[in-house]
Amino acid sequence: MLILTDELASRMRAHLEAGYPREACGILIGSIEGDRKIARDLYLAPNAWSVENERESQRNRYLIAPDDFVRADREAGRRGLDIIGFFHSHPDHPARPSETDREFALPVISFVIVSVRQGQATDMTAWVLRDDRSAFDEEEVTTNTAGPGRL
Ligand SMILES: [Zn+2]
Repeated sequence: MLILTDELASRMRAHLEAGYPREACGILIGSIEGDRKIARDLYLAPNAWSVENERESQRNRYLIAPDDFVRADREAGRRGLDIIGFFHSHPDHPARPSETDREFALPVISFVIVSVRQGQATDMTAWVLRDDRSAFDEEEVTTNTAGPGRL
């Protein structure tokens, strides 16, 4: 289960809406406690995808630059936290992982996808890659105004 505060969820939505009609992305920082991933902060990364042709562009691809990954990891470590997931938007497409998402995914951590339609964030889903990388399983994602300490 992935636990986000309402405040983090709205910062995430605002970042993903600002990127529309391109995909936007970022990193979830927090801690993993048993089967619960508790998000404490977000790292808002620019979409570093640079290929632009009929098939692939920032409208359907995203890339988090290694520098941003390192910065987020360092920031998390400084606060005794870990990278617990990534998030990105699907502009005018459902909040379901694509083949490309599966190909580049890593095990254990969460992949949050938010569908952004006409510039408005709608569905939010979370996914975890199976150990054999064959598919994603959907993960419950919950937001709680009281903060994760209250769950
Ligand atoms: Zn995707």
